[in-house]
Order: sequence, then structure tokens, then C-alpha cells
Amino acid sequence: MTKSHKRFTFMGYKYYSIYFIIKNFMNRYAKYFLLGLALIFISAGSLSAKPKAKYVFYFIGDGMGLNEVLGASIYASQMEGIEDGYKAFSFTQFPVVTIATNRSSFSYITDSSAAGTALASGEKTGNGMIGVKSDGTTPVNSIAYYAKQAGYKVGITSNVGVNHATPGSFYGHDKSRNSYYNIGLQLPESHFDFFAGSNFLTDQKDPGKPLLPAVARKAGYTVAYGVDQYQKLKDKTSKMILFQSDSTKTDVPYRIDRKPGDLSLSQITECAVDFLSKDNNKGFFLMVEGGKIDGGGHSNDVLAAFSEVIDLSDAVEVAMDFYRKHPQETLIVVTADHETGGLAMGAAGMYELNYKVLLNRKASKDVISLKIGALRQEKNNKVSWPEIQALLQEYLGFWKEVPLNMFQEIRLMQAYQESFAPVRMGPGSQRPIVASTGEKIAAVAVSILDEMAYVSWSSGAHTGTYVPVYAIGAGSENFKGSLDNTDLPKIISQIAEYPME
Ligand SMILES: [Zn+2]
Repeated sequence: MTKSHKRFTFMGYKYYSIYFIIKNFMNRYAKYFLLGLALIFISAGSLSAKPKAKYVFYFIGDGMGLNEVLGASIYASQMEGIEDGYKAFSFTQFPVVTIATNRSSFSYITDSSAAGTALASGEKTGNGMIGVKSDGTTPVNSIAYYAKQAGYKVGITSNVGVNHATPGSFYGHDKSRNSYYNIGLQLPESHFDFFAGSNFLTDQKDPGKPLLPAVARKAGYTVAYGVDQYQKLKDKTSKMILFQSDSTKTDVPYRIDRKPGDLSLSQITECAVDFLSKDNNKGFFLMVEGGKIDGGGHSNDVLAAFSEVIDLSDAVEVAMDFYRKHPQETLIVVTADHETGGLAMGAAGMYELNYKVLLNRKASKDVISLKIGALRQEKNNKVSWPEIQALLQEYLGFWKEVPLNMFQEIRLMQAYQESFAPVRMGPGSQRPIVASTGEKIAAVAVSILDEMAYVSWSSGAHTGTYVPVYAIGAGSENFKGSLDNTDLPKIISQIAEYPME
């Protein structure tokens, strides 16, 4: 002590003091210091490690632009008697909300196969092409393929044809989305675990070629028609395709036209979760397409579009039930491929939306048209104006809950005259009797109700507006900033750790 005191006196008192303090501190507290340092490193490491998404839900609303979601939310609010509200849907409450651009390789306006390919594989392609690069031939693999490669179970589902553009983009490769038979042949080749849809679509007219359900069965898939059949067969198979119960139909009805027994998107999602969770510790990737919002947009049927957004929200609610049980390991992403119809929020220079009047509509435009067609058949084309009035009252509330002005009534009567006045084209000629979705009276009646509600459309086709992106759960914070549709599968693959290469 004396010795060291002498030495540091020589070097200066201040220096000696600091040295002494540090030396003593290190001797006494070094172990605590090192332990603290280690704890800092460990906690920093655990914060930076991203939570892995063991279960991924990827919902795609076909034709679900921002205004389809917002309009459906206002309409749903009106249904609950709240005249100035926005009903919150399952996914509109997600903590992460952003937007995505969606142009295809050669156009600002995409179709569902180019957008489906972008959302599935992160690759831009040309309109009409499915699962290939824009050269039309080079195949690209989807995120579902990579999920399967990484050992996850995979489900690809929709409420339209299982080999339609969006679901087809996750397993098929063809320069034309209309090659339904060829795309359908590729479905079993994917070896994915679960598929669902309305049915197989086909462009194959050769009776010598095997039917697609038979091809799938031969490859080891069980095909269940309806949820009841699914329940009976699910434990006897490792690969399942679920279709609607009527095997002769290629389309499921809109939610607004649904009858008991018709397949809903929620049922599809429930069956998918049930099947993919079976004997599965690894995890799954499930794509669910709300495929019929697009149909509402194409036919400018606002109620069909809104009711399908609500149907998608119900299906997302099924995923939310799963998420609540596995919050650390589940990622749910909800987006759209494009907008359809150019639905505007407002019309005719009015600072008003009168969606309340839409509550009087009881069926889609297609079904109202088919009802007129059925009347046409029943009466052998001799349908009276009062009979049409009764039908329009039943399905749109006209003349009862919804009073018409003179001009609106004249437009309807003109459509009636054009549709039912006797045809004078020579002896024996008469109107064909076919029930179709093209009855002019239905189109005019629906457009009159739209005018009253201040609903307006810019197109009968797709538009290039932003689509919404909603996310919740493991890694959802990675969906940030304005995105492009090609970004989505790349972000999901990073979160879920199935590299796309
Ligand atoms: Zn479309």
C-alpha cells in the first residue's frame, strides 16, 4: 500500500485515484458487470428475432378495392339500423393496414391471373397468363410450393372454380388462364393437402379425356361434395378436395341469394383449418379466395359485391378464432387482386350516400333477372305489367317502401315494352323463352335503385386503383409503406421462413 502510494504520488494524485476506483470496482463487481452485459445482449437478441409464422392465412378478395370494403362497411352499418356509421369487419380492425399497387407486366389494369401470379409468386406477368413469367412459358413457383417444400401443409381454396385464375395461380402454369382442363390436371401434381372451390371448371370437350375429379381421385385425392361428405371422409384420407354439394353446378350463389345447404366461404375456411390442423405439428399455409366480389363488380351489382365482402369477413373471422388460440405463431394477411367496376363513393353531384334504400333489395341482379325469366316461361311470354310490378315490389320494394318518380316509372315501362311487347318479324315469329341473367327490366330496376342510393360505377371491368392490405399476427409489422402486389408473397415467405428459391 505504502509502495503503491509512493508510485502514484509520482504520477499525480488524480490519476492514482481513478485507477484505484476502477480497480476496486472491477475486483468487487466484475462478475455482476459481465452478467449485466450478457443480459443486455440476450434481451436485444430476443427483440430482434422475428416471431415465426407457423400458420399463415392469405385471404384474397377478388375485385375487392378500397371502396368495396368501405361501401360494404356502410351498408352493413345500415343493416344494423345505424345510419351514420361504418361497421367494423374482422379484418378492417387489424393493426396493420396499407395499400398495394397491382399493375401487370404490360398494363396498368391487371386481370385476375396476372394479379394472382404476382400475389402467389412475386412475379409480374401478362394479363391472361397464370404461373408463368411474362414470356408466357417460363414457369414460376408460388409461395404455396415453397411452403410445401419446407414441410408445411398447404391449402388452396376459393368459392369459385378451384382451377379459376386466383387459386390456379398457386399451383398451375399456363400461358392462358382459360386452359381450365390443363390447369386442373396440374392440381394433383402439386401434392398440396387441401383444395376447395365451387367445382372444377373445364374447357375440355373431348369425351375421351378423363374428367378432372377422376384424375384427382386417381392421384390419391378424396373428392367431397358438400360439408356433410367432408365430415364423413376427412379421417380416411390425407388429401382432400371439397366442392359444393351439387356436383353438376360450377358456381355457388352469392351470399345475398344463399339458401340453406349452399357452401359459404366460412365453411370452406373451417374445413380447411380442420383438415390442415390434423396430425400437424409443423404448421400450414392456407390461401382463401373470396372469388365472387369480382362478379358483383363486373355486373355492377353493388349488393352482390357488398354481400361477398361480408362473406369474406366472416371467413376471416374463422381465421381469427384460430389466431386467438395461437397468437404468437399465426399470421393473417387480407388483400385483393384488383378493384372491379370502378365503384365510386358518391354520385350525381350530391354530398350524400343513401345506402339505406339498398336494404329493400332482396336478391342479386342475376337472380331478379332469372325470376323475370321464370315468369316469362310460365306465362309463355305473355307477362302483364302488373305482374312485373309485383315482382319488382317483392325484390326491390318499388311502389311500396321505395316510391318511384314519373321518369323512373317510364324507364321501367319502356324496358317492359321492349322485353314483352309482341314481336312482329313475320308469321310464326316469337320471342325465345330462356331464363337468363340478361333481362333488361332487372338491369334498369337495379340501376334506378343505385341512382337513389348514389351508387355509381365507372366500368364493367377491372380498374387499376390501389388495393388494401390488412395484416395481424406474427411478423405483421413487416407489411409497411406502400407496397406492390409482388411484395406480399416475398414478405410472407420471409416471416414464415420458407425461402422462395
Ligand atoms: Zn374479374
